[in-house]
Amino acid sequence: MKLGEVSERLMVPLSKSGLRASGAWVRIPPSPPRFGEMEEVFYEIFKSLPRQGAGDEASTERAFRKLANLPEHPEILDVGCGTGNQTITLAKLAPCNITALDNHVPFIDILKRNIHHTSYSDRIRCVVGDMASMNFADGTFDLIWSEGAANIMGFEKALYAWKPLLRPEGYMVISELVWFKEDAPQEIRDYFAEAYPDMKYYEHHYLTIESAGYKMVDYFPVPDKSWWTDYYTPAEKKIAEMRLKYKDNRDAQAIFDSFQLEMEMHRKYSPYYGYSFYIMHKENK
Ligand code: SAM
Repeated sequence: MKLGEVSERLMVPLSKSGLRASGAWVRIPPSPPRFGEMEEVFYEIFKSLPRQGAGDEASTERAFRKLANLPEHPEILDVGCGTGNQTITLAKLAPCNITALDNHVPFIDILKRNIHHTSYSDRIRCVVGDMASMNFADGTFDLIWSEGAANIMGFEKALYAWKPLLRPEGYMVISELVWFKEDAPQEIRDYFAEAYPDMKYYEHHYLTIESAGYKMVDYFPVPDKSWWTDYYTPAEKKIAEMRLKYKDNRDAQAIFDSFQLEMEMHRKYSPYYGYSFYIMHKENK
């Protein structure tokens, strides 16, 4: 694969330098040197984690319980499912059929392995695909779910692009990285000015949601511990191992430094930002 192709195609947790992770998975500008090799280092971390972003089972369930008018056997699309932690939670919560979509083949393979020989295997369809060009027929889904992934194409863009796939009065549930306070200190503002410049104050999404033709059902912040239990804590452990494995590789060490910087930022500034779930109902216009 040519490096140029990689930079066009991939969305990974890299910043402009190509060597910095961020709470948001962002589009990579032109490839840094030896990007292919560094991509492997990234995915070696991420595929080992229970989740590839902040979130937890209780929040997934809390958001799901807000959906008052789902059919008995809903058709669900889980966009940017990663290794499928929340996909399996959803499968436990209702007798639904889920299409779990991600563009990273090894994540989809892990999900397939995890559901193999479980009672969910015939209800979860694993699909490799791009969230920006999904080929499902209009009106296929009762619910589109996406934890920590819609920001990859942009929250607002996702609301418009995915809406036709929903049945009339279908639901959209997205967890999105947002500012919780408007007076965040400069250090963390500077950090996100590079990592996720489009990050919005969490109440401002209300207007975006209504103008995109949805009714807001509810929204709530994801608790801070959800950054740690299945994400940062196992990531710290994995990074400690990988620092030894890649001890002579400066690019890999820079990636680890940068992911650790992200965690340090979170330790310092978690009251100022985090994920918020948005639960929306498509308006029947
Ligand atoms: N939902 C999972 C979770 O909360 O653990 C994963 C969230 S992770 C922050 C973002 C996911 O989006 C990754 O699994 C990544 O591979 C996937 N992704 C990135 N770009 C994508 C694209 N263009 N189309 C589909 N999935 C994409």
